[in-house]
This record gives sequence, structure tokens and C-alpha cells, in this order.
Amino acid sequence: MTTHKLLLLPGDGIGVEIMREVERLIGVLNAKGGENSFEYDSDLVGGAAYDAHKVSITEEAMKKAADADAIIFGAVGGPKWDDVPYEHRPEAGLLRLRKDFDLFANLRPAICYPALAEASSLKRELVEGLDILILRELTGGTYFGEPKEVVTLENGEKRGVDTTVYTTSEIERVIKLGCDLAKKRSNKLHMAAKWNVMKTGVLWRDVTVATHKAYAPDVQLENILADNCAMQLIRNPKQFDVIVTDNLFGDVLSDEAAMMTGSLGMLPSASLGAADPKTGRAKALYEPVHGSAPDIAGQGLANPIAMIASFAMALRYSCDMAAEADAIEAAIAKVLADGLRTADIMQNGLTKVGTEEMGKAIIKEVEAALS
Ligand code: NAD
Repeated sequence: MTTHKLLLLPGDGIGVEIMREVERLIGVLNAKGGENSFEYDSDLVGGAAYDAHKVSITEEAMKKAADADAIIFGAVGGPKWDDVPYEHRPEAGLLRLRKDFDLFANLRPAICYPALAEASSLKRELVEGLDILILRELTGGTYFGEPKEVVTLENGEKRGVDTTVYTTSEIERVIKLGCDLAKKRSNKLHMAAKWNVMKTGVLWRDVTVATHKAYAPDVQLENILADNCAMQLIRNPKQFDVIVTDNLFGDVLSDEAAMMTGSLGMLPSASLGAADPKTGRAKALYEPVHGSAPDIAGQGLANPIAMIASFAMALRYSCDMAAEADAIEAAIAKVLADGLRTADIMQNGLTKVGTEEMGKAIIKEVEAALS
């Protein structure tokens, strides 16, 4: 019997509403019994933490996060906190979690449920059944390299500088993770970089080839130029399975892939750290891609699917519960196929439901599948 320790951080706005559906789901999985169970605790983060404690996350919450096997995060922010001191703004809580736990890998799946294929901007046949995973390096590269500045030159002109920096070990660890993820899926890995014009691109390609050869030669690897990858994603996205890439290209490619699937309310994500040498477990935070949606908060209108799918990722990547993760993903597909829709994905002639109703319908399917 394995007990998984979770920390739930609902945050602000719709984060609170969608997290309730995760709690309900945890209750159902615990009630089912079996080899796995969950212990969970909750705490404040973001604006809610600021209101109570004048910080965006407390040391006590950070300690609970350090002790947890997985952190399940809702969303933070909202106009109420626009004027709080910069270091205590709601997003600072999330950035602190990412930084303190060195969450270097961001996983963004792009899954196009057949029932939602019409909502994509691409043709149905290109996206129906799409299931790809973008693995973005999250703590290095262009967004963090120094110097990073805008300077005024002697002639009065300004010059902006960003610096793209990567070391062997930073690339190696994310490529290894890419190989591990590919093995859990269809064993196919693309690495996207610009080795034709960037020195960091040359290093990415060389380290990728060497790491793959030493670590997972059985994985089918293809290196692809990042611009070609962007084009191929639009032309024929189903040719991909896992795409691993640096921070900057990953930012762009993951948004491109995400939009093939329809709505923001559907997109889960995971951020993983290095595996603990003793337990083999990686620190991990799971969160929907969307924000706290202040425009619909408190009205029971939010789509809980991105949150529930993020929890399914936690089961898959932090709890070794692939069967339960599969059951949740299948349940989401089923309720969508049955015509249930929250307002953000509503189509003519289908049944409009709120957060709770959508959550309960998914949970009912999960219960049926696992009974
Ligand atoms: P947002 O993602 O909160 O909302 C964008 C639009 O999508 C809104 O119209 C919203 O109603 C809709 N939407 C988002 N999620 C939805 C869902 N689950 N169901 C139905 N509709 C949904 O982005 P924003 O409006 O730019 O930002 C609002 C606040 O959230 C800001 O304070 C921002 O800083 C914060 N934010 C937080 C995170 C995070 O916590 N990781 C991410 C992005 C934005």
C-alpha cells in the first residue's frame, strides 16, 4: 500500500472552484481502496495568502510543499492585488515554488478530444485524436542568461541584449527526461533547436545525440530545426509524440500546440524537478495553463477540465498510477462526447453545465471505470 502526500494550493479566483472538483476526485479514489491512497493538506497562495499573511506564500506552506510528493496548484492573481508591493504580488508565490524546487522541466500536453475537434483552428482530420507532449526547459536559456539589459549607446541609440546560455548538464537532464517520457508513450522523441545559426543550438544537438546514445538508444530520436518544427506542427501535428526544446522555443511551440486543442480551460501542465537520488521521485507541481479568470470567478462557470487533467498528470508522473490517469482522461473524453459543455467550450445544441456539474459528471465516469 502506497500513500501519496499531496499539497493542494487552490490560490485565487476560479482556482478555488476548480480545486473543489480535485478534492472530490481524491475522495473517490481514496474510497475505492486498493494499493494507493492519498493524504492531502491545503494552504493559501497568491492573493489569498497576501490577504491573510501579507506574503504570497508562507514559510509554513513552503515546508508543506517540500514534504509533499506532488503540489497541485490552481491559479493566482486578480485586479484586487494589482497594487500590492512587487515582491508580494500573487505570481511571486508560484515563481518561488518553481525556483526553490528547481522545477526545470515544463510538460505541456496538447490533446485534442474528438468531440472538440471543431473548436480547433485546424481541419478536423489534422487534429482529431491529437496527443502530443511539449517538454520545455524552464530554468535556463534566453529568459535567465546575463547580460540582460537595455543600454544607451554613445550616439543616444538604445541597445537591448538578452543572452542565451546553456550548460551540458542543463541540457542532459531535460533530454533524459524526454527519453523517459517517450518510453512511457510511443517511444518517439523530437529535439527542436537552431544548430544552424546558434551556438547553444549546436550544444543542444551534440548533447542530445550523446545523451540519447548513452542513456536511451532504443528511443527513436529525431533532431529538428525549431522553425521547421513550428511549420510541421501546423502541417501535420500527429507526426509528433514528445518534443523537447529550450525555454524560448518551448514557450512558443507549446502555445502553438495548445491552440490546436481549442480552449484555455482544457489545458493541463506539469513542472518537474530533478529526481531525488534516494527515492527516485522528482519534485513536481501540476497546474492548469489558464489563470484565475477574475471575469467569471465565484459564479460556478469555470471549466474544471484543465485542473482535473493536471491532477491526472500528477497520478501519471508522481504517483505511478497510470491506470487511474487513463481513466480520468477517458472520462473527460466521454463527458465531452456526451455533449456536456461549460460556457467556454459551448456549441449549439449541446448541454451547458457549470463547474460542479462538469466535475461530478467526470467523477461519475471515473468511478464507473475503476469499480
Ligand atoms: P486567464 O487565463 O485567467 O483568463 C483568460 C480568459 O479565459 C478569461 O476570459 C477567462 O474567463 C477564460 N478562462 C480561463 N480559464 C478558464 C476556465 N477554466 N474556464 C472557463 N474560462 C476560462 O488570464 P488573464 O485574464 O490574462 O489573467 C487573469 C489573472 O490570472 C491575472 O491576475 C493573471 O496574472 C493571472 N494568471 C495566473 C496564472 C497562474 O496562476 N499560473 C496564469 C495566467 C494568468
